[in-house]
Amino acid sequence: MTRRFALIIDPVGASEERTDYADTFTVVDAAAPALSVGELSTQRGDGVFESIGVVDGHAQEVIPHLERLANSARLCDLPVPDQEQWRQAVTVAASECPAGEGVIKLILSRGVEHGPTPTAWVTAAPASDFRAVREAGVKVVTLDRGYGLDAAERAPWLLLGAKTLSYAVNMAALREAHRRGADDAIFVSSDGFVLEAPTASLILRFGDRFTTPAPTGGILHGTTQLSVYEHLAGRGFDAEYGRIPATDLSRPDAAWLVSSIRLAVPITAVDGAAVSVDHTLTAELNQYLLSPRD
Ligand code: PLP
Repeated sequence: MTRRFALIIDPVGASEERTDYADTFTVVDAAAPALSVGELSTQRGDGVFESIGVVDGHAQEVIPHLERLANSARLCDLPVPDQEQWRQAVTVAASECPAGEGVIKLILSRGVEHGPTPTAWVTAAPASDFRAVREAGVKVVTLDRGYGLDAAERAPWLLLGAKTLSYAVNMAALREAHRRGADDAIFVSSDGFVLEAPTASLILRFGDRFTTPAPTGGILHGTTQLSVYEHLAGRGFDAEYGRIPATDLSRPDAAWLVSSIRLAVPITAVDGAAVSVDHTLTAELNQYLLSPRD
């Protein structure tokens, strides 16, 4: 059975000053029920979350994940998490991860209906084995996201830049991709620009230039994409953000889906048309992503 670890956080206000938060954590049996049936995270997906990669007990890029959690909380009018409290909770969870690759999830929920707010918890578990897919790659199809590139600005209540718990649409897109004979999907805006995958960011290579959709168009700013860009900049490559027309997907020199747990996965085909794979750079990126990163 998968070994899991879970702790409930009693969130403190962001202004509370202390150095040790251990007494605000309650370790619970990860295999036993721990949440109220009135939880709004389960009833409505009303909450925000993060998934952090762990390699041999080292939690990767913790601060960027905590900053994105805080940004998601702000967008959802949830109490902003105390960064030091959550950092200490991640440290406790990471110490429970076995050797190899793991995943820590941070969840901040609206709380219990008519009850106290918010509810917060952290889990740790071994990650799925993605080594084969990092080499073999994925076939993707493009799927219409149903709104234009300016939707985040025009309709902020859609919470497009927040990593909310409402992933039913993302999971439906993956099922549609499977129905179409692909492994994954790339969302395209209704006005024809590339956005992101349901659980990953997209990076395209054209010669020595790398590009990714600007995170202004209602997509998440991926922590892995940021890490990869830092690495590419260190190697002397141009790595930029842009408005990428969907037609550009037919002619990259290489393309990847990147995310915290699966890491860098090469795209082998878009809508049935083959995309060339840069095996050497893919291996280099994954070696870097598996090294300790803060
Ligand atoms: N975009 C979406 C919709 C995601 O769900 C994720 C990760 O889960 C990402 C992008 C990549 O983010 P990160 O690299 O921080 O894991």
